[in-house]
Amino acid sequence: MRIDILTLFPEMCLSVLGESIIGRARENGHVEINCINIRDYTLDKHNRVDDAPYGGGTGMIMQTQPIYNCYKALCDQIGAKPHLIYMSSQGKTLTQDRVKELAKLENVALLCGHYEGIDQRVIDEIVDEEISIGDYVLTGGELPALIVADSISRMLPGVLANEDAFTLESHYSGLLEHPQYTRPFEWHGEKVPEVLISGHHANIQKWQREQSLKRTLERRPDMLEKAELTQKDKEYLDKLKNSKA
Ligand code: SAM
Repeated sequence: MRIDILTLFPEMCLSVLGESIIGRARENGHVEINCINIRDYTLDKHNRVDDAPYGGGTGMIMQTQPIYNCYKALCDQIGAKPHLIYMSSQGKTLTQDRVKELAKLENVALLCGHYEGIDQRVIDEIVDEEISIGDYVLTGGELPALIVADSISRMLPGVLANEDAFTLESHYSGLLEHPQYTRPFEWHGEKVPEVLISGHHANIQKWQREQSLKRTLERRPDMLEKAELTQKDKEYLDKLKNSKA
């Protein structure tokens, strides 16, 4: 899969993309992630890419021409239209379900706004989807784009050690993950739950499932409405609810 980040600040993105799991995945060819500098495509002789908003107001607006030319050059290079996502505080909030869908695409491009945002006309003409990472406003789309690129990349074959690494994690299955522990067995007087060192696989799985249900009930009860639950899960949740009442 190929992901292109269209930004005025490629260095900001590249510093993150070179590290850790994503850095290795790029090196090993499990995912291709490029950062394209929108400024390289401006036709302005002073290299400008933004201007004051029509109608007045504070801040600057990114202009249509550099973004459009940058996008066109990318389409020519790939030989196809990538699915273009504008990182926007006004978009639909990113979810694990949407990440799963995006990870199936061949080419995704992430357009980062900056300053006060982007001239609406180029958004209307080239953008396929707007995604927000939450109900708050950041100075630019670079951090949101990195979040999208990271969340997609870790679902691609070969990026994580095995599929369990993401299918058992919070949100993938519609539940929050159970608590995790590692050595030492005892720390600050607190011991790891005995069942985890019992070696009894079925009991461990049961404990993990129940902890996952308990956490979700306590922290994100809204998620339980959509989660796939077995009869046993429902009985366990009823028991928890009744014990609280
Ligand atoms: N004027 C815009 C508004 O009121 O909706 C906010 C512009 S914001 C200061 C600059 C850029 O940061 C946006 O164009 C967008 O690319 C990015 N951005 C800010 N918050 C974001 C969020 N929650 N999710 C995704 N992108 C965001």
